[in-house]
Amino acid sequence: MNKKIENFIDGDFIESGGNSIPVWNPQEGKIIAEVNDSSSNDLKIAVKAAKSAYIGWSNKTLKERTEIFYEFRNQLIDNLNPLSESICEENGKTFQEAKAEVLKGIELTEFACSMPQIINDEIQEVSRGVECRSSHEPLGVVSSITPFNFPIMVPMWTIPNALILGNCMILKPSEQTPIGSQNIAQLLKRSGLPDGVFNVVNGGKEIVESICDHPDISAVSFVGSTKIAKIVYKRSTNNLKRCLALGGAKNHLIVLPDADEEMASNDILASMSGCSGQRCMAASAMVGVGDIDSIVKKMVESAEKIVPGKNLGSVISEDALKRIERYIDEAEKDGAKIILDGRNFKVKGKEKGYFIGPTIIDYVSPNMKIAKEEVFGPVLAIMRTNEVDEAIKIENRSSYGNASSVYTQDGRLADYISERVSAGMIGVNIGVPVPREPFSFGGWNNSRFGVGDITGKSSINFWTRLKKRTTKWNKGAKRNWMS
Ligand code: NAD
Repeated sequence: MNKKIENFIDGDFIESGGNSIPVWNPQEGKIIAEVNDSSSNDLKIAVKAAKSAYIGWSNKTLKERTEIFYEFRNQLIDNLNPLSESICEENGKTFQEAKAEVLKGIELTEFACSMPQIINDEIQEVSRGVECRSSHEPLGVVSSITPFNFPIMVPMWTIPNALILGNCMILKPSEQTPIGSQNIAQLLKRSGLPDGVFNVVNGGKEIVESICDHPDISAVSFVGSTKIAKIVYKRSTNNLKRCLALGGAKNHLIVLPDADEEMASNDILASMSGCSGQRCMAASAMVGVGDIDSIVKKMVESAEKIVPGKNLGSVISEDALKRIERYIDEAEKDGAKIILDGRNFKVKGKEKGYFIGPTIIDYVSPNMKIAKEEVFGPVLAIMRTNEVDEAIKIENRSSYGNASSVYTQDGRLADYISERVSAGMIGVNIGVPVPREPFSFGGWNNSRFGVGDITGKSSINFWTRLKKRTTKWNKGAKRNWMS
């Protein structure tokens, strides 16, 4: 009998009606649990609980709410290993990668705990004896919908900030990796979070649509593919909710011949293969300007040390594996050169697992599918040009705009390129330019719909609304046109 992943509503794990969806261990290729495919009725129960918890929660002071998250941060530290193991099991990444993910979750919580220090509510005597004050107020019940690739970190982009700022939340994790959210729910409860403040409703399409439609949910945060981000953004805003929807990516790295060979080759390789390429910040397309043969050669040599099942995890599912291999097959058919081939990789003892080795494809033309579409696997497509401006043009033609990096030792050229690439997060000699807290995370173009970023200070505006109060107690206060 498989473990049953239940919804977490009003402080308890409860089963919902309806069908269940299998949860796989992708390294083993076997089912490890079943998760509820919740319906709009389940959502109604969760929203009701969140709505009644909101009154007490939003009335607590910012400091009181933050104190619960100090304890939650300690719980995350104490449970670092079991949380990481659970990520490996449901997602397929390596233990080191899973641990890095939980550590990032801790960093995000620490940032949220600094909210009392950084939130800038304002007060000013605007006229003699008349005070104007603006304060960040919570929105009410909000929702966060998350993808499979970071079962702990991506939910943690939203949970601590939204809750500390006084909101109650309905989290809808990926049905492919729902266990991380169960663990988060348990630790929040153990940290003293009042029942109903945080709820998890599992499932797929139906529950997401219900979230977009529910009249008592004020804001929807979404992270996932561009196709679904567009659907969620349109549906939520059509229902007059605020929405921030982060989508997919095709991150371009522009590599110049003067780049530090050792650093560039190691970094790019780590960026394209880490988490089996299933990161929205992964290097996916590389544009070499001039003679970059020695960097490419070094990358291929070093890639031999990256071995699936040893220091490279699996991809999420059989479907994902087939999709990735299809992209490589098509690139080969289109005339690109596979200089490192990770297809058809079998790990001894884990023959049913969904493994693929790092794959490097050279002489890709910008018009090929592999150059334009998100592959979401450990695959790097190399394009070549002799002109920096042509490299920039290739990057600019991408419909996405999550991240872009440049590798060079020439500061002026690095600036020239950074200013012209069309992406929200730029790296100079950095393969995965994730901004650390308190800097905010968010892309451009088809990688993000809505205003602002999802983390850091930018998130404050998303999770709150401003209340402006003008006060006069002194009868004799100087009169002006407002009095
Ligand atoms: P996905 O879009 O398939 O799923 C994301 C969420 O949407 C899940 O909770 C899923 O249940 C739900 N969903 C799926 N199909 C739906 C439908 N038809 N209608 C309504 N809801 C639906 O994404 P994924 O495969 O879980 O994650 C990988 C994608 O996420 C990649 O494209 C990756 O680039 C992107 N991603 C982006 C960022 C970012 O910051 N921009 C971060 C992480 C992942």
